[in-house]
Amino acid sequence: KAKESGRNHYLLYEPSMDQSSHERMAKENALRKAVERNEWVLHYQPQIHVESGDVIGVEALIRWVDAEGRSIPPKDFIPLAEETGIIVPIGEWVLKEACMQNKRWQDAGYPRMRVAVNLSAAQFSKSNFTQSIEEVLKATGLDPECLELEITETMTTDVEKTRYILNELNRIGVQISMDDFGTGYSSLNYLKNFPIHRLKIDRSFVKDITTEESDARIVGVIVSMAHHLGLDVVAEGVETEEQVEFLRQQGCDAIQGYYYSSPLTAEQFEKKYLQSNSIRKMGAIE
Ligand code: C2E
Ligand code: MG
Ligand code: MG
Ligand code: MG
Repeated sequence: KAKESGRNHYLLYEPSMDQSSHERMAKENALRKAVERNEWVLHYQPQIHVESGDVIGVEALIRWVDAEGRSIPPKDFIPLAEETGIIVPIGEWVLKEACMQNKRWQDAGYPRMRVAVNLSAAQFSKSNFTQSIEEVLKATGLDPECLELEITETMTTDVEKTRYILNELNRIGVQISMDDFGTGYSSLNYLKNFPIHRLKIDRSFVKDITTEESDARIVGVIVSMAHHLGLDVVAEGVETEEQVEFLRQQGCDAIQGYYYSSPLTAEQFEKKYLQSNSIRKMGAIE
């Protein structure tokens, strides 16, 4: 009945198990197999600079393509991967793949841009986390400033430890963004305590900005607060032209959402954005 995280610890069926724990066990075993077989694919969603319309970066989003070729979205396996620790090898794969892909694009002569990678609690709290980031950067040859790490406030409870890790990451030169901003209990505490570069306004605030006065005001205040603190703002989940227009008026820096593009395979992204040369040179907006 192996419970440890990592590879090669398959769970065994026991007759006493009820239906749901049996299903969970099956899913956990499938996830471990997926790790061995590397059944992961990254999709890339562009972040568009509001003023120029150029791409300033991409967020890497994982998909699990199982043995039957089905593409399974993160919400259907990331929670279990986190509970079981399987997220650690998955997260390592994501980091390496995202950095490799970005470097490949740079080596192909496309303008430099940033790739953002989502982190999870288990990865972040591993004792050698910073070192593992340095190793990936070294192994792939990607410039640290071209890597952005997305953290959420649900990832950490220990303020001192988090601050220490984020300081280390700053020292290495990678960028930090706070994902899903506004959805947790201590968003402001985060801003107060931690060295981050960017805020991503959660989709739940963006959704109704053109119909709900209070949401519109909240987003306006988040943008202005972020700018007062010297942070860039990215709005997530932007789907309509009206939302883009509102965000532009509020001075939001960048937009990520279906209005511009859903997450694309590397090949699709390259065709649609890199080959058409709509990438804004890094640093051009800072
Ligand atoms: P997130 O980091 O907040 O990513 C944004 C999610 O919103 C993505 O869902 C994206 O496809 C979706 N999205 C983007 N634009 C729109 C829009 O205009 N409308 C709507 N309705 N949705 C939009 P996705 O790819 O299913 O990922 C869901 C979550 O799974 C992510 O939320 C992130 O928390 C997690 N995730 C994804 N990839 C990874 C990963 O490699 N590692 C970890 N630890 N978590 C990941
Ligand atoms: Mg994210
Ligand atoms: Mg988010
Ligand atoms: Mg999220």
